[in-house]
Amino acid sequence: MSILAVQPSLASPAPSDRVAPDTAAGEESTAHPLAEVIGADLTVPLVHGGAARYVNLDYAASAPALRAVADRVAELLPLYSSVHRGAGYASAVCTSAYEAARAEIGRFVGARDDDVVILTRNTTDALNLLAAAVPGAAPGGVVHLDIEHHANLLPWQRLGSRVVQAGGTRAQTVAAVAAELAAAPAALLAVTGASNVTGECPPLAELTALAHRHGARIVVDGAQLVPHRRVSLAASGVDYLAFSGHKLYAPYGAGVLVGRRDWLESAPPYLAGGGAVREVRLGRTEWADAPARHEAGTPNVIGAVALAAACRTVAALGPDAVSAHERALLGRLTEGLAAIDGVRTFRLWPSASGGGGDDLDRIGVLTFTVDGYPAALVAQYLSAEHGVGVRDGRFCAHPLLARFAADGVTADGAGVRASLGLGSRAEDVDRLLAALASLRAHGPAWTYAAPEAGYVPVPDPRALPDWLASAAAGPAAPCSA
Ligand code: PLP
Repeated sequence: MSILAVQPSLASPAPSDRVAPDTAAGEESTAHPLAEVIGADLTVPLVHGGAARYVNLDYAASAPALRAVADRVAELLPLYSSVHRGAGYASAVCTSAYEAARAEIGRFVGARDDDVVILTRNTTDALNLLAAAVPGAAPGGVVHLDIEHHANLLPWQRLGSRVVQAGGTRAQTVAAVAAELAAAPAALLAVTGASNVTGECPPLAELTALAHRHGARIVVDGAQLVPHRRVSLAASGVDYLAFSGHKLYAPYGAGVLVGRRDWLESAPPYLAGGGAVREVRLGRTEWADAPARHEAGTPNVIGAVALAAACRTVAALGPDAVSAHERALLGRLTEGLAAIDGVRTFRLWPSASGGGGDDLDRIGVLTFTVDGYPAALVAQYLSAEHGVGVRDGRFCAHPLLARFAADGVTADGAGVRASLGLGSRAEDVDRLLAALASLRAHGPAWTYAAPEAGYVPVPDPRALPDWLASAAAGPAAPCSA
């Protein structure tokens, strides 16, 4: 294996990387996390030796559990038992908890009285479930944008969907969708609530009205939007919404599809098995109504209860607090990146103001490149030398990244994504900015493997936690898909 030799130029990590109490007193509210998350005080080893408080800027991939969520799970675990299957007291509690969780999740997203809340594994699962329920899904029956995450693209591509290229502004994007819906009828318009690459939000109100005007329904991929903004199906008219617990501070394996009953009621059961039936005879089965119809097998009661606890906690924070916290941090990040020479951020729809933190149609997700350094190397450097966790790659949005590559925003077809959440604080943003400024000024201070080896640090002296050390050889290779 060849090694990319990078001349070390820093003898030790910057002092700001060392473990030290945050200096929050008297600073603006962004100095504090908005809610307590598990792992907030995690320290991680650095390749130079020593350790740093882990800066988690990877909320968009998987967010840490809220303390309130972990506490609720701890309360439930002693009572853990079967759902809809047992006569024991613990089973009765779990059945009640599961159905109460379903109701709470529905309330959180403003489900209409007749909507169904189906508990799934994640957003991918939820959107695949809906894809199997689109009535008469003829080729061309589903329309979606080219900016989508694969989870909101591949299920439709399999049905022979029509793809609309997002325009250079939100208005042009709406016009392009309008032209496509006018050209031929569609059953469903599938759109993300917020881009997992740029954090920008398509104009959902206009797209919803447009879809309905053309006799189509709309499904919103809420994987990124729901953790950042309150969404109400009843108020918005959106027909279906999918999202994941692990991005909403409840990483216990549950996700959701919420929406109109009729399609889900008449669709074939998503999985065939116990719990999804009313009566089975050899050779003939009478299926249950939704949601049970699509929830065969033993349900994930821990995941459902955790997700409901997350919904309750986030709702209690209030929508203004969440967006104000995030807007301040995003502004700090956007302005800080703009001040570092050679850093470019990805934007679908740059705002007239230049895309500062005042743009309400963006969530706390941002992707950038650093001139002269492949995205994977930047991400490895941030982790190895500064204890900052980000994601690099193409973010399961290959068509969108191909567009950014064609536009010259990224030389290697990839980007580095920083994403914020309830546990984020100003110091996290500052740590990233200082590390990037140091990269531009001095280059990395360690050596990194060749591209085909993912630019991992070489050598990598960072030890795994004791409980894992005997079971694994070294840190896992990064996923740059
Ligand atoms: N949609 C968007 C916008 C995403 O960002 C993701 C995951 O990153 C998904 C869908 C898929 O979510 P999951 O992996 O939880 O199924």
